Amino acid sequence: MPPRFRTKRPIGPRKRGTTNRTPVRRLWVCSPAFRRSKLGGIRGHSLPRRVVAAVGLWLWLASSAAWAADAAAAASRFPRTAFHRAFCAALQRRGIDPESVCDPTSPAELRILTEYGAIFVAALAATVPPRCIFADEAAVTQFQTAAQARSASVGRAPVVLQAAALVAFRAACAEAKQAGLVISLKGGAKASRRSLADTLEVWKRYVDEGLRNWVKAGRLSRDEASRLRNLPSAAQAAAILGLEAQGLYFGLAQRKTILSSAAIPGTSQHLSLLALDIVEYAHPEVRRILAKHGWYQTVLDDFPHFTWLGMAEERLPGLGLYPVRSQRQTFWLPDPRE
Ligand SMILES: [Zn+2]
Repeated sequence: MPPRFRTKRPIGPRKRGTTNRTPVRRLWVCSPAFRRSKLGGIRGHSLPRRVVAAVGLWLWLASSAAWAADAAAAASRFPRTAFHRAFCAALQRRGIDPESVCDPTSPAELRILTEYGAIFVAALAATVPPRCIFADEAAVTQFQTAAQARSASVGRAPVVLQAAALVAFRAACAEAKQAGLVISLKGGAKASRRSLADTLEVWKRYVDEGLRNWVKAGRLSRDEASRLRNLPSAAQAAAILGLEAQGLYFGLAQRKTILSSAAIPGTSQHLSLLALDIVEYAHPEVRRILAKHGWYQTVLDDFPHFTWLGMAEERLPGLGLYPVRSQRQTFWLPDPRE
């Protein structure tokens, strides 16, 4: 069978007095089809020049796409931080308008993004929620159905996640087992998927405990505590974060922010099927194996909580995330720096 391409001029020095026309299969840039193309039509260009031209064209196309995403991010109304730029670029790559996900004029929604926004820069295999805060249970159910939740058993507890996140978690469990380690779920059936009602229950528990404590400490009146307890969830979240800004914390033992223990109602990553809570979070080797399979701690001081980002650790800074150390563990948080 004749070769597809026949070089008119062979590579290497031509011997005097010989034609030196050995048929050799060459790169596409050597082909007649390439020569007939616009790029190859640049007459008189040697092979190295054509390779350089092809590589240059590819780089130009890639950089144009990146530039377009950056320019769109720059033109947005989001703060000019590393994370918000990456957030805008990531959503635009998915064909989603970033402002439809989070209102850049709402301090509350920007705060939500700062606390739990890592999921929006996850690998394309992840489906991201349509809003940074779910409005109601129907919106959560609709998203979880569309994201095609998959389930498996870990020990005796079911784990329910998005397909790619579940595959990665099972791979991590298998690797841990080979190393003689166990990865188990904290919270049984609620370690992974949660309903809005589940997350509200956790939030309410911390709010009630904090209110009882601050009334007892004389920092809040009973009437004020009762008013706060009965506020609608969005208004209550704003009021609680307002009190925390004055030093009245609602998290663990009223010493930390409530956000390290409970998500603002409607914002938990568990609703998006991209998070799970692990018992063995303190074991460095377990964390290393989980990270190898794309699972990272992304909510500061919520130690058992891991988020599936689906990326190697060295790629995380390029996603607008930066490492923050707490109790010798690394949290990958949205980077607030410009
Ligand atoms: Zn969690």
